[in-house]
Amino acid sequence: MKVIDHLNDAKSTLFSFEILPPLKGKSIQSIYDGIDPLMEFKPKYINVTYHREEYVYKERDEGLLKKISIRKRPGTVGICAAIMNKYNVDAIPHLICGGFSKEETENALIDLQFLGIDNVLALRGDPIKTENSFKPHPDGHRYARELIDQIVEMNHGKYLSEDYNLEPTNFCIGVAGYPEKHFEAMNLSTDLKYLKEKVDAGASYIVTQMFFDNQKYFDFVQSCREMGITVPIIPGLKPLKTLQHATFLPKFFNIDLPETLANEVLKCKTNDAIRDLGIEWGIQQAKDLKAAGVPGLHFYTMSDSSSVKAIASEIF
Ligand code: FAD
Repeated sequence: MKVIDHLNDAKSTLFSFEILPPLKGKSIQSIYDGIDPLMEFKPKYINVTYHREEYVYKERDEGLLKKISIRKRPGTVGICAAIMNKYNVDAIPHLICGGFSKEETENALIDLQFLGIDNVLALRGDPIKTENSFKPHPDGHRYARELIDQIVEMNHGKYLSEDYNLEPTNFCIGVAGYPEKHFEAMNLSTDLKYLKEKVDAGASYIVTQMFFDNQKYFDFVQSCREMGITVPIIPGLKPLKTLQHATFLPKFFNIDLPETLANEVLKCKTNDAIRDLGIEWGIQQAKDLKAAGVPGLHFYTMSDSSSVKAIASEIF
């Protein structure tokens, strides 16, 4: 079932979450171990992230370095199929522009359709670690908007080939939105302009980047509505879990911790203390958002569902 249909059918705020594929070599059981504790909250769908290749340098015998491309977390599509098979819950693969030619994208979408997956979260993807800006595949897409165009074309039966009468696909498309602006955007209004382009191109809903200050989300939704973006905007929540999160998350995701939270973080001396704070803050954020009537609460588990479980048990 499509995410937009889940949202339209919902009588109250939906619960959903995102997982990462495990590091290469780990079994599917590690995925189930993360999902099992959250099933009691009846997620309507589960997102699975996509991780493109990274380049690492390996020393050769002569002391020379060799550049090697590796994908540390493969398996997004297989995990989606396994989730749908085991839990009978919709799984949403993340599909990115980076590293994909248009034809590879087309083939990936055909695989998804064959598996009965009719949802995708369409993203550009981040620059790979060894590049300081995003470099599209020479025959790929530069922006998520272009990827959406390709999916919509396929939904109309128009593939890259010139053949006629091809079977239309039937994907529901979600996109990313950034209440505190995407790190590359000149300002929030240009970012919103491009977000509107993604929606106008065919996205049915928006999932936000994590935020720790609900007011940022409410302001973002209001700005979106003022410029004519009418689709559901699902808030993304991430519980703080380690002392390292307090500096890593703001830097990596271009977000601020509100002053009250930052002051509480400064008092924490151990990861256990931060974890408790993250749960307490997450419960408050989720309660306020739910009370404001948000369409869903989408949790970033980042491979550890224990804090999300603690929050969800207070909310759902
Ligand atoms: P876009 O919408 O293409 O925007 C990228 C930047 O370009 C923005 O600054 C935007 O303002 C600007 N822009 C857009 N269109 C134009 C235009 N026409 N001209 C000029 N500028 C333009 N990354 C992964 O690699 N794998 C994942 O699984 C993944 N999952 C994510 C899930 C969520 C919910 C979120 C919020 C992010 C996720 N990301 C993931 C990260 C995401 O790929 C990065 O944030 C990426 O840098 C931007 O992706 P986007 O789809 O928002 O890009």
